[in-house]
Amino acid sequence: VNFYAYITGKNKYSFSPLLAAATGRIKPLKGQKPGAGDAVLFSFQSPDWKETWETLKRLPRGVVKVAGGAHPSGLPLHALDMGFDFVFSGEGEEHIHSLLNFLEGRGEPPPCLWSRERMGTVCRGVEIEKFAPFAEDLPIPIEITRGCPFLCAYCQTPRLSGRKMRHRSLETIVRWVEKLVNRGMKDIRFITPNGMGYGGRGGAQPQRLLSLLRLLKKKYPRARFYMGSFPSEFRPEHISLSPMKALRNLVSNRRVIFGAQSGSPEVLRRIKRGHTVEDVVRAAEVSLKANFRPEVDFIFGLPFDDEEESLRLMKRLAEMGARVHAHYFLPLPSTPLALEKPRPLSGPFLREVEKLTGAGTLFGQWKRQMALSLELYRLNRMFSTPYVGEEDKGNEKENNRGAPSR
Ligand code: SF4
Repeated sequence: VNFYAYITGKNKYSFSPLLAAATGRIKPLKGQKPGAGDAVLFSFQSPDWKETWETLKRLPRGVVKVAGGAHPSGLPLHALDMGFDFVFSGEGEEHIHSLLNFLEGRGEPPPCLWSRERMGTVCRGVEIEKFAPFAEDLPIPIEITRGCPFLCAYCQTPRLSGRKMRHRSLETIVRWVEKLVNRGMKDIRFITPNGMGYGGRGGAQPQRLLSLLRLLKKKYPRARFYMGSFPSEFRPEHISLSPMKALRNLVSNRRVIFGAQSGSPEVLRRIKRGHTVEDVVRAAEVSLKANFRPEVDFIFGLPFDDEEESLRLMKRLAEMGARVHAHYFLPLPSTPLALEKPRPLSGPFLREVEKLTGAGTLFGQWKRQMALSLELYRLNRMFSTPYVGEEDKGNEKENNRGAPSR
């Protein structure tokens, strides 16, 4: 059996570590002609399901089609309905060889493999330190941490990657940065759900992140490091002045991105953000003092949103000099909000949003996400399994409990 991966600009982040873990057994599909009996692996997120489906339909008959990634992991029955023969749900590194062996007719399938005949589980908890962050011929930003102990109700991360934060060690990260620098790369980026929590269990401990960046900057003075400029890479209550000032001298990004999502204390409580509205305002103040430009994520159309309170906070942030990064609520599969209908936006709210956009203080793909949001809602209604994320079980009442201890 030949194994191929359908790699695109959007899914290379998930495929690169997987190709590394597969030790050469999977080749890129580009330029190849798979035949009957060969297997093609896909990985995609919810916004890309239709595009993936078009590609899938063009594959010759007899090719075995396997889906992985956030959308199939959260909604395996939809992926099977799209025409996939198998769905791998969750993190792949640890199970990739047993998956490939099984497709070759050897051994048992991994526990998280789904098919029309078989329900699976979700594979979580990969110790990323044991695996390469990328395949040598497909370099991507280095994932320094995986997993998130928070339980934001709209987010797939804790449901698909688990709540335990697993970190790559300082030494390992340095080794991989060296590989990138040796290839002539000047811009070095990282992936983490919680930058200020690097090295810990979820609480803020900026010194660990700063030590990492200091060490890297010393070793590679000509490289440019970026941290905090991916969406919601920092949590607002983790942002404090002296670490931010120190960070400013170590990184090349001028902006920092953190999540507010709503301006309503009640909504923040219901979506279990674990921080307050004041935390957001203070984080913006501190970022500006440290000479960063804050960009603050908001989600429009949450099923129980309070438009007025969000608008008030957005205007306040804009007056301070921050920008609003606006998203529209996507009911992502496997999250507690998967079956909640997105809320249409009112005329007055839209007019105010247009004013902020015109003034250059609000941007984002929220309009484009509106159509997809309803479509996802319908797909969830049709294909959700009666699975409440294990990570949420027993935590139904948990909210605003603050940061986990270090
Ligand atoms: S803190 Fe970020 S990664 Fe963690 S659950 Fe919330 S949105 Fe997701």
